[in-house]
Amino acid sequence: MQKYFSIFIILLTVHFLTASTETIETGLPKKKKKEFVVMIDPGHGGSDTGTPGTGRYKTTEKDIALDVSLALGKKLSQLPNVKVIYTRTKDTYPTLNERAVMTNKKKADLFISIHCNAQPGSKGTAYGSETFVLGLSKNKTNLEVAKRENSVIYLEDNYEETYEGFDPNSPESLISLIILQEEYLNQSIEIASYIQNEFKVTAKRKDRGVKQAGFWVLSKTYMPSVLVELGFLTHKKEEDFLNSKKGKKVMTESLYNAVKKYISRHMETVDNHQDVQIVEEETTEKPTSRVFPDVTFKVQLAASSKKIATKAYNFKGLQQISREKSGSIYRYFYGETSDYEEIKRLKEKAKQKGYTTCYIVAYKKGKKVSLSEVLKQ
Ligand SMILES: [Zn+2]
Repeated sequence: MQKYFSIFIILLTVHFLTASTETIETGLPKKKKKEFVVMIDPGHGGSDTGTPGTGRYKTTEKDIALDVSLALGKKLSQLPNVKVIYTRTKDTYPTLNERAVMTNKKKADLFISIHCNAQPGSKGTAYGSETFVLGLSKNKTNLEVAKRENSVIYLEDNYEETYEGFDPNSPESLISLIILQEEYLNQSIEIASYIQNEFKVTAKRKDRGVKQAGFWVLSKTYMPSVLVELGFLTHKKEEDFLNSKKGKKVMTESLYNAVKKYISRHMETVDNHQDVQIVEEETTEKPTSRVFPDVTFKVQLAASSKKIATKAYNFKGLQQISREKSGSIYRYFYGETSDYEEIKRLKEKAKQKGYTTCYIVAYKKGKKVSLSEVLKQ
């Protein structure tokens, strides 16, 4: 009898606990709605026409990119819990930098830049669809595509300042930034493969494959990102196809199927990611501290010959980034505190973000000092 009684107590307790969690939950501010945000970037625009193609049409790359982008967005936004945003919806030209900043600000889960290809010279023999993810490429043809898409930077005023010395003619100079997108490479390749498969099967296009090259706009986004080349406007037949209603429709349909498939596989991960972040925020509020009043601790993340803006999107979302120049090398730091326990927590956070070799440095009156000496105090 006593046994039954204790089981009853346990059941009652369980019920009570469940009931109380429910009450606690409803007492909290409403949980964010599960939402998957897709940023669609119609390439070029305004005075930047993109490739003019064979010249037989009034429309250029920017027009086709916009038509397909808007049609894709319209279809995607009908999916439950999917939010679509665009870098442009009209014939305007946001700079590449503005596009990247916008995308990061809106915390998009996926970035798709839509373009049309051009073959250099007057042969007009190349045709087919290809999708790029960010990476280094020694392949000459891939480099040419990246150069052409990056070259719009030249049209902007102060491009040297905005792009921090990046040379559009040398996509290899993106090397230091490529590391920052690496985290998303697998997912970028995944969506790129879905897109290429759809182009082949649904749209019956020549599949030129998933490729890697140094695109500036892809290097600056902080989420899985791809750049789609729908087809060659320098190829007469393909140009006709991409200018036709039917062509645009079938390319839109293909992109839609691919993105839909990707979303269905990643909706869960997006939610988990949010949950993890919430837990992380709660745990970092531990009150333990060990303060050295005249010492400043920082976490050194990286050293590079490149000057990179100290923005969170350049450092896997980490805030409070500082930069120091010594000789020809720039050092990048995360955090700044006199609390050694706090800097240890920040170091762990940086490690979780992928800066596995980061370490703590100490400063006294602005001069670097040995960490072990400081800790002996
Ligand atoms: Zn383009």
